[in-house]
Amino acid sequence: MSRIDEVLESVSKTLGLEKDLMKDLLNRRVLRYMEYRDIGYLVFRREWRGFREGTSILVDSGNVKVVHGYPSIQRILLLKAMQTHFIDKVVVEEKMDGYNVRVVSFNGRILALTRGGYICPYTTARIIDLYGEALARLFKNEGEDIVLCGEVVGEENPYVQHYYPEAPLFDYFIFDVMVGENFMPISRRDEIVSKYGLRQVRKLGILQKDDVNSLMEIVNKLERAGREGVVLKDPMHRVKPLKYTTTYIHINDLELGMKYPFDEGRGFLFSRILREIWKIYEEKISGKELEERAKRIGLAILKPAIESIKRVEEGKAVYEEYTLRVPSIKVLDEFMEYMDKLGVNIALVQVTPIENNYYKARIIKMKQTDLEYRRILKTGYSPID
Ligand code: ATP
Ligand code: MG
Repeated sequence: MSRIDEVLESVSKTLGLEKDLMKDLLNRRVLRYMEYRDIGYLVFRREWRGFREGTSILVDSGNVKVVHGYPSIQRILLLKAMQTHFIDKVVVEEKMDGYNVRVVSFNGRILALTRGGYICPYTTARIIDLYGEALARLFKNEGEDIVLCGEVVGEENPYVQHYYPEAPLFDYFIFDVMVGENFMPISRRDEIVSKYGLRQVRKLGILQKDDVNSLMEIVNKLERAGREGVVLKDPMHRVKPLKYTTTYIHINDLELGMKYPFDEGRGFLFSRILREIWKIYEEKISGKELEERAKRIGLAILKPAIESIKRVEEGKAVYEEYTLRVPSIKVLDEFMEYMDKLGVNIALVQVTPIENNYYKARIIKMKQTDLEYRRILKTGYSPID
């Protein structure tokens, strides 16, 4: 029996899903089969009969564990939505800009899963390195059903590189604790995080749902500090959370995205502009201030795009670059293979040994924009109408 067959067999025995049905889901790309060391696992690439997108079914020597996906958070364009959405109190938390990671324990091993439900070898290694002992104690005392949900932030990051003074390179900030697919009350989450010496996102206030003014003040403070935004939560998770972001991050996203107009650019453009339109409306911004905002947005769109053209013109390539720190070459190999399997086109350009037996790896990601820009410079033709 092949490894994938063994996995399907175990899942079928434990969860009662028919093998043929799972094979059909694999063919239809609803499910995807992946491996990480001794673990074979199935990932739901979209919602299917109550299994959320990003849900994984992990299998190791006949043991099976379902890790539920982290649900998508409703975005609001108007802060006043707080009044109608919530029941009474609202916890205002900082929204951090990194990538979503669920940490679980399976067969005595700690694993870090990305939003999509994949076990990331890099994230797993870094989190174990930072918090391995604390996490082992946590899962032993609080139960293996616990799923920590948090954001990995910092610049040693293969997905979203954003500098945070409190975590310049790599750290993990917990924002929720799930048990199975349910969320623990926020007070319980706080207890667990502090008991095991972990870190969590900042709590910026607990408001009455009608207190939109205080919420605006909080957002303005984040604006001035150059932070991403807020997530609003019911203290008991009785209703779903909401998210709202700052002008600072909208502009920042535009600048990042428009370095590569034919890659991230398109998707980033309309959504960020829409967020700004409603923000400007709600904040009643007009006159001189509106003109200033328009200029900032305009420059955020044009400047990076034009700078990239100049790069190509000078014979340089347009690519993204980042640095990762890994505890072994094995982890680096696993990570490169993992990205390859997911179809992400990256290349290792340099590996240097550093202190504590660690290695620093410089990685680049080529961009479609590079090709498109070259063609336009040569022919003058537009790739789109
Ligand atoms: P979504 O499917 O929720 O729209 P997205 O990838 O577009 O996901 P974001 O717009 O960044 O994500 O907003 C949701 C994400 O914000 C969460 O999945 C989580 O990774 C991140 N996040 C950061 N801080 C918090 C927080 N305090 N509470 C909840 N999520 C947070
Ligand atoms: Mg995010």
